[in-house]
Amino acid sequence: MTETLIKNADIVLTMDDARSELKGADVLIRDGVIAEIGQGLETQGVTVHAKGRIVTPGLVNTHHHLYQTLTRAVPGAQDALLFGWLQRLYPIWSRFGPEEMFISAQVGLAELALSGCTLTSDHLYLYPNGSRLDDTIAAAQQVGLRFHATRGAMSIGESDGGLPPDALVEDEKAILEDSIRVIDAFHDPNPGAMVRVGVAPCSPFSVSRDLMRDAAILARDKGVMMHTHLAENDEDIAYSLEKFGCRPGQYAEDLGWTGDDVWHAHCVKLDGQEIDLFARSRTGVAHCPCSNCRLGSGIAPVREMRDAGVNVGLGVDGSASNDIGNLIGEARQTLLLQRVKNGADAMSAREALEIATRGGAQVLGRDDCGQIAVGKRADIAIWDAQTVENAGSWDPAAMVLAGPQKVRDLFVEGRQIVADGQLATIDLGATIRRQNDLAQRLAN
Ligand SMILES: [Zn+2]
Repeated sequence: MTETLIKNADIVLTMDDARSELKGADVLIRDGVIAEIGQGLETQGVTVHAKGRIVTPGLVNTHHHLYQTLTRAVPGAQDALLFGWLQRLYPIWSRFGPEEMFISAQVGLAELALSGCTLTSDHLYLYPNGSRLDDTIAAAQQVGLRFHATRGAMSIGESDGGLPPDALVEDEKAILEDSIRVIDAFHDPNPGAMVRVGVAPCSPFSVSRDLMRDAAILARDKGVMMHTHLAENDEDIAYSLEKFGCRPGQYAEDLGWTGDDVWHAHCVKLDGQEIDLFARSRTGVAHCPCSNCRLGSGIAPVREMRDAGVNVGLGVDGSASNDIGNLIGEARQTLLLQRVKNGADAMSAREALEIATRGGAQVLGRDDCGQIAVGKRADIAIWDAQTVENAGSWDPAAMVLAGPQKVRDLFVEGRQIVADGQLATIDLGATIRRQNDLAQRLAN
């Protein structure tokens, strides 16, 4: 039996069903699970003193392309719209191999962990030069984050009227076979799972209608979740209307891509009927506000979605379209964007934090994560309440509105991943040096 006691926190923002906020509270972790919450708790194990700290559930990232940390701020892709941006980056990505996938994932996961994230999904949809989903899963196991890897795919290359170069697309039969392989090898359906696998064709404009449908059948046969990009910007809607004769929501519904086992990234352009469809079908949305700003895609109707009952989580999206992989920063950006669109009372800091924690957990089908309550997994972030960023505040909401944007300590399944602001699991300095060597090779 291993125990860790988080002792005497200034406040614990639990995000439990009552949204309890507990002053001067202790949280006792036993064998990876939250065992007790209260005051005056004792342990024979490790004690982490939390006076001057704010304790929250670990943040949940519902959309990322970890490999893109190797193509941040690429010249020629800094100022482009989605389709032009992709065409600039595809040739660079086609030179990636297993080491690029592994190192870039470690960098992205470390960046997420330092911003308070304990559970992340990843959407890997290209496999050049022998790369495999296994490379990113190995990276996550070393860094120590809870990881939902999705087996992405592209199958319609330039010669078939698609956007990606032919060298980056795969045969559809091979995609389905490899999806089965990685699900069988890595997917853990049990509560407390550290690795789950999902099925994730890249987007309706990079795979066929058949693959969308077959992927959904496969996912349901295997009991895994499904993920793709949907309704990201105006070009995306125009493409759907022209090629499929319908809006993206209709296309998704026709091919089995709605339900509580499905989540779609972006959904910036969903209309009222599509929002109703997602609410009725319990389809989840990964909201990526910084990426949407960076690519000029628009402001997603998060207020409308939440009011209609749609499950919404946050995503940093890949570092080629956001550049920063800081998840608590996305919570702040979510609130700011909804206020630009709907006014200053459109979203509170506490609601943004709720979307970033239990909202994301719900989108990923993890009712065992995303809140601090007895019996839930011990995924916990501890924030310093005495930094220069938040000095002068007396409401914990300051952690979303002001900062800090880096966590002090982080626990995943009760294991300490970040200690005193430093990653405790891998040699981050060495990883960054290797990443920069690889980036330099790509630049040349
Ligand atoms: Zn994306």
